[in-house]
Amino acid sequence: MGHRIRTIGKQRRGWRLAGGAAALLAAGALVGAAPFSDALADDGAPVPGADMAAELAAAGVTSADRGALSGRRMVAGPAVTLLASAPERPFRELVARVGASDGLAASLRRAGVARGDAAAAAAAVRAAAGGAVPAGTSVRLRLGKPGANGARPLEALDLKPRVDLAVRLERNADGNFSVRREAIGVTATPQRLSGRVDDGLYWALRAAGASPRAAQDYLRTIARAIDVGEVARGDRFDLVIERRASADGDSSLGPLLYAGLDRAQGADVALMRWNSGGEEHWLDALRLDSETRALIWPVAARISSGFGMRRHPILRYKRLHRGIDFAAPRGTPIQAAADGVVLHAGRAGGYGNQVRLRHADGTITSYSHMASLHVAPGTAVTQGQVIGTVGSTGLSTGPHLHYEVHRNGRAVDPRAVEGVASAPLAGEALAAFKSRYARYQALPIG
Ligand SMILES: [Zn+2]
Repeated sequence: MGHRIRTIGKQRRGWRLAGGAAALLAAGALVGAAPFSDALADDGAPVPGADMAAELAAAGVTSADRGALSGRRMVAGPAVTLLASAPERPFRELVARVGASDGLAASLRRAGVARGDAAAAAAAVRAAAGGAVPAGTSVRLRLGKPGANGARPLEALDLKPRVDLAVRLERNADGNFSVRREAIGVTATPQRLSGRVDDGLYWALRAAGASPRAAQDYLRTIARAIDVGEVARGDRFDLVIERRASADGDSSLGPLLYAGLDRAQGADVALMRWNSGGEEHWLDALRLDSETRALIWPVAARISSGFGMRRHPILRYKRLHRGIDFAAPRGTPIQAAADGVVLHAGRAGGYGNQVRLRHADGTITSYSHMASLHVAPGTAVTQGQVIGTVGSTGLSTGPHLHYEVHRNGRAVDPRAVEGVASAPLAGEALAAFKSRYARYQALPIG
């Protein structure tokens, strides 16, 4: 039986960093603090004395002057003795967390860093990290003595923008920041989880140890192949996620690498993430066998011009004729040369009305100067299906079909193409795919 690999679209790259090395600040650093970042926890609301309002009134303060009884700006409780003046600490250390919506600079400003310092530090960190710092990253700050305007200058900053990178920013004697990058060794290991679907697939995944993110990735991936609503009690799921552990003890879950499902009824699924031709695909390891099918001619007509160098009939200079021309009357049906998916169906400059098809092994065929188009982009077509009719649209002297075949991004002579493979993998790539699949299947569960 002729199995074939299903190529199920590109996968988004990248993942978010989880957690980070968060040092807790000394409790003293919080006293008198303006609203800080979300990383700072309240110490708990004070218990107001029964006659606190009277005490405060006697002291000449009102709640409105001093803040609320709970939250971050609190009125002093009865255990607090008001000092005539408090000594300024020479520096302050605290932890800020990068906000979800506004990035590092705004998070630094919220933590009390002067505006100019916050912008300069954020720019330096961005350059060192090669991109924005992910939301949720903890940032250890050391602020100096307040200046005339009350804002404290930034003295030092530490953060881990990625699991494999630490960045430290320090103010030099000349007032500028120096940046130090430190690479942290990271080992990536595949982690396998498996279990039985009972009441629901999502909760079964969570119970097996999948993070909410991994569970969602798994569901999205499986949904490329089957209707997730048909997953039944007793089916077994099997997934592999990349776990990255850094030398300093942090770890984060990377992308989903494999999504399998053994079903009591219905076909099993074994989708493995695979990079081919610079693109990420999900390929089904259970449908790897490939067969080569010959291309058919798109029209039954005389070839009026072959592939190769020729003088262009309209442009009048010598150039490569990238395809072959078939002389056929207007309205002659044009057939798909092989099974494929419609990449383009519409105008294409001098090619006039054009249909481009992508075939399973990456081969592309195109059909130009068409009078009418019978297919829409994104739809699947089968070999021999009529995709349009012969015309003379675009740079054309009369009704004909200009037919091209592209392999690896280059036009090739259609007469030299034996056929298209029904699967994207062959030879060494296929062997490498099978070996990785075998490795995943041999991983211990958990
Ligand atoms: Zn042509």
